[in-house]
Amino acid sequence: MALFKPGNVEDFYELGDVLGKGHFGQVRRVCERSTGLYYAAKFQKVCKSTRGLHGVERDQVEREVAVLQLLSHPNIVTLKDLFESREEVALILELVSGGELFDFIAEKDELLETEAIFFMTQILQGLSYMHQQNIAHFDLKPENIMLSEKVSRPNIKLIDFGLAQRLDSGQEYRSNSGTPQYIPPEVIKYEPLTTAADMWSIGVITYILLSGLSPFQGDTDAETLNNVSEVKYELGEGPFRTTSDMAKDFIQKLLVFCPGDRMTADECLLHPWIKPITRKQMHKRNRSSINMKNFKKFNAKRKWKMSLNMVWMCTRLLSLQQRRRAGAEADPLQRECDSDVEDAQRSQNSAVLKTLGGSD
Ligand code: ATP
Repeated sequence: MALFKPGNVEDFYELGDVLGKGHFGQVRRVCERSTGLYYAAKFQKVCKSTRGLHGVERDQVEREVAVLQLLSHPNIVTLKDLFESREEVALILELVSGGELFDFIAEKDELLETEAIFFMTQILQGLSYMHQQNIAHFDLKPENIMLSEKVSRPNIKLIDFGLAQRLDSGQEYRSNSGTPQYIPPEVIKYEPLTTAADMWSIGVITYILLSGLSPFQGDTDAETLNNVSEVKYELGEGPFRTTSDMAKDFIQKLLVFCPGDRMTADECLLHPWIKPITRKQMHKRNRSSINMKNFKKFNAKRKWKMSLNMVWMCTRLLSLQQRRRAGAEADPLQRECDSDVEDAQRSQNSAVLKTLGGSD
């Protein structure tokens, strides 16, 4: 079990600005008082009841921490310390200060496939390392792919191991969490999951990176999920007109219905798009580029949706808090019941939020 230090983070770290927000807390820049070094503190409210969604379940935090403690790789965020107070836990993480990969790319006027491959290789190296230890991320999406620093050739850092799992042999793991655009068919069907689920998400992310379009995006979540279940996507000439055939082949070998038939991270690293063998293959990558016009549009829409979800979530939490206060003044027994209802409701809201995160 993870060793959380009891007590106040602020005794050891000075709190700085907010770097990001999750469903149950925020991530803040912090400065370690004893060294002057900077880190990111991920604060999360922990709920007391197992069904509750006043915060993240204690088990889930333990799982995230256990996974992070097993990982040590240049492309994966590292965990330094843990704190626990009555209502909150704080994970002290390596500070990742380069922002999201997709934002970095969207600022460019043009991007050759070779530059996209520079980033894809690092993502795959991080994944290969995790998968070798039978650890799956299960929430790969642009928001969770960050850059170490704002420099011209930054390092990738994979973050948010909140849904990550160590897959012990002989034990089945099922889940229906995730964001519709990025989840594979086996998540929708609630079938046992393997590390191949991450490889599907890599296929989706590569598709978006090259074309600026989301392969399975429908007008509604139901439509998106249906497209995923039927593996209904196109590699149309329009959005992919500047894409190499090798890149298309790479995507096609990942967006495969049967998890066992998808390329693994190690196989991806040997695919000619990532590791060309012939001079001709090398040359093709240098001449192909990503569809910047579409990509910028995709990214602007993504950011807009993220901020919209955050506003919706804050409003919802405020109204729940007000209802809770009103209930507290009424009848203590009733309050207990209300809180259960709220828990179930929040559970649904949380699932919906995850869902909304990916829909148009
Ligand atoms: P969600 O509930 O949406 O899954 P979460 O509570 O698990 O979110 P994270 O996704 O880990 O939280 O972090 C939320 C945001 O905080 C990230 O999108 C990112 O912008 C920022 N962030 C997280 N970790 C770091 C870090 N180590 N360094 C810098 N910023 C970070």
